[in-house]
Amino acid sequence: MDFVTEPERQIPVTHDVDVLICGGGFAGVAAAVAAARNGVSTMLIEKYGFLGGLATGALVITTPPLNNGINREIARRLMSWNSYAPDLTWEDAADSDEVDGLAGLQAYDPETAKFEFVRMLLDHRVEILLHTYIAGVLHSNDQIQAVVVENKGGRSAIRARVIIDATGDADIAAFAGAPVRAVERPITMMFNMADVDTEKALQHLGSWQALKQVVRKAIERGDFAFSQKTDPDFGAPGIFAAQLIHKGQIGVWGGMLYSNRILDPREKTRAEIVTRDEAFLLARYLKKHIPGFENARLEQMSTEVGIRATRNLVGLYVPSKDEVTNGEFADTVARPYRNKRLALPYRSLLPQQFDNLLVAGRCISADDAIMGRLRLIPVCSATGEAAGVAASISVSRGVEAAAVDVGELQSMLSDQGVEL
Ligand SMILES: Cc1cc2nc3c(=O)[nH]c(=O)nc-3n(C[C@H](O)[C@H](O)[C@H](O)COP(=O)(O)OP(=O)(O)OC[C@H]3O[C@@H](n4cnc5c(N)ncnc54)[C@H](O)[C@@H]3O)c2cc1C
Repeated sequence: MDFVTEPERQIPVTHDVDVLICGGGFAGVAAAVAAARNGVSTMLIEKYGFLGGLATGALVITTPPLNNGINREIARRLMSWNSYAPDLTWEDAADSDEVDGLAGLQAYDPETAKFEFVRMLLDHRVEILLHTYIAGVLHSNDQIQAVVVENKGGRSAIRARVIIDATGDADIAAFAGAPVRAVERPITMMFNMADVDTEKALQHLGSWQALKQVVRKAIERGDFAFSQKTDPDFGAPGIFAAQLIHKGQIGVWGGMLYSNRILDPREKTRAEIVTRDEAFLLARYLKKHIPGFENARLEQMSTEVGIRATRNLVGLYVPSKDEVTNGEFADTVARPYRNKRLALPYRSLLPQQFDNLLVAGRCISADDAIMGRLRLIPVCSATGEAAGVAASISVSRGVEAAAVDVGELQSMLSDQGVEL
């Protein structure tokens, strides 16, 4: 490969804050609110012009119950607009004991989530900087001094006492050189169709599940060009959530693309082109061939192709599947679902190196065998909430993140409504 040398240059330090949250998905939003409500100055930076990450931008829009800690607050806000699990009252949703797997998925409206996430941050005086891409970090052996960002204002640095990596891809940890491991998961383009006559479609199909078979057979017959892998148990193209929050609207996922190089921008470009082309063709096929779809239209594709995972932190501890499902850690700081054992230890959020870094969301440290469940939305926000409170303690007590008193952290989380 050919190289050029970038000349050394000074860049302005535009902000100096106690806690800096990198990434504004469910994890980042929860982290920012949890830190700010404990009185430390908090800032969140995000590359898009909205918050919610995959959960809004990639049209994921179905989640296991949001029924513990900050998730209850998010549920309450969405339900005040009738935008989450409309078949449940708020109390039912909060108390729901449904499983934390596909069977318990409930739909929500992504635009309401974007709106409410901004309100939550502003209510807690979090400074938000959108359209800002994290380009690197400045660090010594054990401290991250600043995060380097690029935006239309140019290149600049943000200083912080504690940094929370909620980028989903462990960008900060990786840029700083903390141990991370590469992960490969299937990639999916989610899209919504509107104006579907769902009753008519269901009369014809029997169930939404049956649509997978119909589509699979059409692909086998070569009715339309579709090169993505179709997995009979998981991810065959078809209807994912039967009916979303709005009448006549359904969520569709467009098959699974596999790549072990998805952090390579050329590969990601290919993934965008292939999955968008095929989602478009799939929508056309449904319209033409499935009763009930005659007047339907492809309403929206996700902003960015849905990439489930790229990198995970290899942190102070890598809990096994059994340990996480048994949920009996002395340092449990996240229990995403009420009345469920699934839990995570504080050490899953701490890198092996760097005193002032915490990681939250889908890139935390845990065995790959359990990550499929840990990437679900309520888990991401639960780890974000724990990281935010821990960061606030680290700042106010003047101790390293790893030296935060876990008893104090657990008791502050309980005070905030987390049933640990
Ligand atoms: C196709 C698909 C289907 C899924 N289905 C479900 C489901 O049905 N139910 C469920 O609960 N979960 C589902 N998931 C998983 C779930 O959506 C995610 O794991 C979860 O939303 C991740 O939240 P997060 O906050 O950890 O990360 P993200 O949502 O990825 O948030 C990270 C944020 O950081 C920003 N960011 C990243 N890098 C940078 C950078 N360098 N500079 C600036 N900003 C940056 C991103 O723009 C983003 O806003 C699905 C995921 C996919 C892809």
